[in-house]
Amino acid sequence: MSRRAQLAAGLDEVRTRIAAATRDAGRDPDAVTLIVVTKFWPAQDVRLLADLGVRDVGENRDQEAAAKAAACESLGLRWHFVGQLQTNKAPSVARYADTVHSVDRPRLIDALAHAAGAAAAVGRRLGCLLQVSLDGDTARGGALPRDLPSLADRVAAAPDLELRGVMAVAPLGAAPAAAFARLADLAADLRRDHPSADWVSAGMSADLEAAIAAGATHVRVGSAILGDRPSLR
Ligand SMILES: *Cc1c(COP(=O)(O)O)cnc(C)c1O
Repeated sequence: MSRRAQLAAGLDEVRTRIAAATRDAGRDPDAVTLIVVTKFWPAQDVRLLADLGVRDVGENRDQEAAAKAAACESLGLRWHFVGQLQTNKAPSVARYADTVHSVDRPRLIDALAHAAGAAAAVGRRLGCLLQVSLDGDTARGGALPRDLPSLADRVAAAPDLELRGVMAVAPLGAAPAAAFARLADLAADLRRDHPSADWVSAGMSADLEAAIAAGATHVRVGSAILGDRPSLR
């Protein structure tokens, strides 16, 4: 099978899963955006995916993402940065990213605000999702739920940033449904103060159904479409 056919089959399967999950949840199929996480895979795969109709791609390391975004610039894709982010990478990420899903601390917000201001020549604001740690283990990234209101106000106060919502990764070894229900509650709390921040980024290859049942608006799917990452094989 050609790589294109492999990717087409993976995409088909994931789109079918998303359609079934939205139907089971009584939600509009268009309410969920698929972000294809292409980390570790080459720019050529991104080109094939774009040709197969993918508009949103995700990456978790700046160096790799910056190179791929440059190589694929003509495709007009939206790039989502989903990995833990060091403040010194903010200027680079602000140049190519549409949305940063991993905003979790004041210093990173300040760095992104500064970088987005410098990159504002592109004529758009940098989207930000507040990443929440649902098990209190902030070493894997994410803010504690009690810190969300102040982080949200800080993003909202930055002219070149746009607060879009929340993101989480289901905790290891816990039932994803309970974690995603908690995330949905936190997202509703956030929307009381910031009504337009209505994205909920949750769900990966293994747990996208549970995330969609709990109200995810954006799922981040890698291996179910591209195969097991080369480093994991
Ligand atoms: C890699 C990654 C994904 C995709 O994971 P898969 O299990 O390959 O679908 C989603 N979100 C984040 C933050 C990731 O790092």
